[in-house]
Amino acid sequence: MSATNDLARRIVRPDVLEMPAYQVPDATGLVKLDAMENPYRLPESLRDELGRRLAALDLNRYPVPSYTALKAAIAATQQVPAGFDLLLGNGSDEIIAMLSQAVARPGACILAPMPGFVMYAASARLAGVEFVGVPLKSDFSLDLPAMSAAIARHKPALVWLAWPNNPTGNCFDEAVVAEILRIAPGLVVLDEAYQPFAQDSWLGRLPEHDNLAVMRTASKVGLAGLRLGWLAGAPGLVAQLDKVRPPYNVNVLTEAAACFALEHHAVLDAQADRLRGARRGLYDALARMPGVQPFPSRANFILFRVEDAAGTFAGLKGRGVLIKDVSRQHPLLAGCLRVTVGSLDENRAFLQALAATLGVSGDWTDF
Ligand SMILES: *Cc1c(COP(=O)(O)O)cnc(C)c1O
Repeated sequence: MSATNDLARRIVRPDVLEMPAYQVPDATGLVKLDAMENPYRLPESLRDELGRRLAALDLNRYPVPSYTALKAAIAATQQVPAGFDLLLGNGSDEIIAMLSQAVARPGACILAPMPGFVMYAASARLAGVEFVGVPLKSDFSLDLPAMSAAIARHKPALVWLAWPNNPTGNCFDEAVVAEILRIAPGLVVLDEAYQPFAQDSWLGRLPEHDNLAVMRTASKVGLAGLRLGWLAGAPGLVAQLDKVRPPYNVNVLTEAAACFALEHHAVLDAQADRLRGARRGLYDALARMPGVQPFPSRANFILFRVEDAAGTFAGLKGRGVLIKDVSRQHPLLAGCLRVTVGSLDENRAFLQALAATLGVSGDWTDF
């Protein structure tokens, strides 16, 4: 429990007082495979060039809140269809918070399949909006009858679909997603945080669905520290959502660094390509390891099930490898841990530590 003094107890919302704080474990000295970060940095020459670009900025000036150059660079490099606008966030987490606030009419509801990304529920609750979680099927696919029933009953203003889903790693069936778009009375956001690893997108389908918006982030492709997310949608929707955005939410350093990264996006694309290759090797090794059941992934992480999730997590940490224990997040995740796809060396260190923890012999570094 976090500390609470008398003043806080008198003035802070009771539900906030009850809330646990967002926990980020200390990763000092550990192989860090818990947060879907890209293990690679920009090459040295590009880092130098970026440093010069940032040094030339007028930090004494506010950002220009239209962010025209950044939006144009995103639209051009990410194939945003003509006629659609962008909403920028300080990470897509902020976009999730802004949308939750924007739809917070009395009696409104936000819906998402579960297990899913934790921020959907957390942001809905902070905005004072009811959150409805609809369980996935045991193979982590969407339960269309359950989704249809929940949509008919709750008439959600907003449905979140992470595609691929976190923490399960799969992309939901496209026909089922299309059906949800058809029956949902409100907005449906396809959260494509892992698009570079899935290599598939709903962005091109924006013109086909009036109630579709697509969200992406720079975080999982190597720029988690930058904090930049964006949402593409119809101009008449984005203009209203944009009123909720703090006017200077994207700072000038982020804006300039993101423009720079987009100019050099081939470098990040190549890193994503390497990670997709590493994902295959990591998945195959996990599938061969006795006592481990990995689930197929289209993201830069792999969910896997073991007999004793908490013990395995602790054994890995004791051997210097930090992953994520998601086993208590949802009943469908019983026994499940989530590992980020790292560099080859990191993946080998993880596999060796896992084999040692589970008491499995053999060489797990030959890929
Ligand atoms: C990581 C993640 C995000 C959040 O990304 P930020 O842009 O870093 O805030 C959003 N959605 C999903 C599904 C994620 O896994």
